Amino acid sequence: MTQKKPETSLLLSGRSKKYSQGAVNPIIQRTSSVIFDTVAQKREATQKRAEGALFYGRRGTTTHFALQEALTELEQGTGCALFPSGAAAITQSILAFIEQGCHILVTGSAYDPTQNFCDQILSKFSVTTTYFDPLIGTEISQLLRPETKIVFLESPGSITMEVQDLQGIITAVRHYNPNIIIMIDNTWAAGLLLKPLTLGADISIQSATKYIIGHSDGMLGFAVANQRCWPQLRENTYLLGQCADPDTAYMAARGLRTLAVRMKQHEQSGLEIARWLKQHPLVDNVYHPALSSCPGHTYFQRDFTGSNGLFSFSLKKILTTEEFSRFLDNLSLFKMAFSWGGFESLILGYHPNDIKAMRQYDTQPTLAGTLFRVHIGLENIDDLIEDLEQAFLRISN
Ligand SMILES: *Cc1c(COP(=O)(O)O)cnc(C)c1O
Repeated sequence: MTQKKPETSLLLSGRSKKYSQGAVNPIIQRTSSVIFDTVAQKREATQKRAEGALFYGRRGTTTHFALQEALTELEQGTGCALFPSGAAAITQSILAFIEQGCHILVTGSAYDPTQNFCDQILSKFSVTTTYFDPLIGTEISQLLRPETKIVFLESPGSITMEVQDLQGIITAVRHYNPNIIIMIDNTWAAGLLLKPLTLGADISIQSATKYIIGHSDGMLGFAVANQRCWPQLRENTYLLGQCADPDTAYMAARGLRTLAVRMKQHEQSGLEIARWLKQHPLVDNVYHPALSSCPGHTYFQRDFTGSNGLFSFSLKKILTTEEFSRFLDNLSLFKMAFSWGGFESLILGYHPNDIKAMRQYDTQPTLAGTLFRVHIGLENIDDLIEDLEQAFLRISN
């Protein structure tokens, strides 16, 4: 059978009879204990516990195995570890590969909790973190050290949306020391718009809480590793006691079936609203990876197959506290909330100083005014534009 196109693969993956038992979807298998009828059965399960044999709940049930198979295929890796949240997937993947006293390089616009983990937890093990300009490209060579163990990427970056020269960075790191583990937070692309392992990364990590579950009603994370990293990631995940519940695993598998079609609508609406914002007289810049105004846009064109509904825009002025509230408090469709990737539109606002506080590298961009990060949901585009139009009117003059 020829390799199917992404939309088709998402419908087929992880749905073999051994998971679904004749139903369309995998069954939800809830258990802690796995019952063995004979000593020989128990021995066999023990031998095969790392290869998808039922062994004990923490190693996963058939519901987990089905999802792991689908996500491994999505990210084109060797194996997939599941975690109770995206944050856990990030922290445990890093923990699995550090050594005491080592050095790690982390992109400067990494998700804020990723940075907090490095600053507050890794520091306890004398692990030094250097944050670098997300647009550093091949210049990353200058920051690599003999004791560097991990390079952690995220593209586009959180909130400021810098798209990284992944190929340049990966080539430079491999040239310096092929043993360095390259990890990337691939949540924005949902594994659909970017395939980091095919570009030479070792581990692709996602918060499935976002586009994969897709309905803002569950928390889940995962990491897909290539052949050389999979055994260590798998065993460390188990040793660290990480597991996800089967009901949420089921919801993630269910979300995969509509991921491509949802993403197309998020992309179309996102682009239309981004272009509308670009021409608005109060807007300074639109940080949307598919627009040339986004830092690193050329890398987006080279490496990604499309965009989604998450981007940012900045105003020409810094809003007063009162204007800031007037803009955000009276929106009817855009809700203020953390997270994104669900069916609904969301918005968060940032003073330029808020952004500065989240950035620990020197060459960060300076923002002229207030920044808003929006997630464009599946509502009608005209309704969304009207909602934003009203917000702009509340801060004009
Ligand atoms: C939300 C998010 C995470 C964390 O995921 P949770 O499931 O909320 O723990 C990690 N990385 C990025 C880029 C995110 O947006």
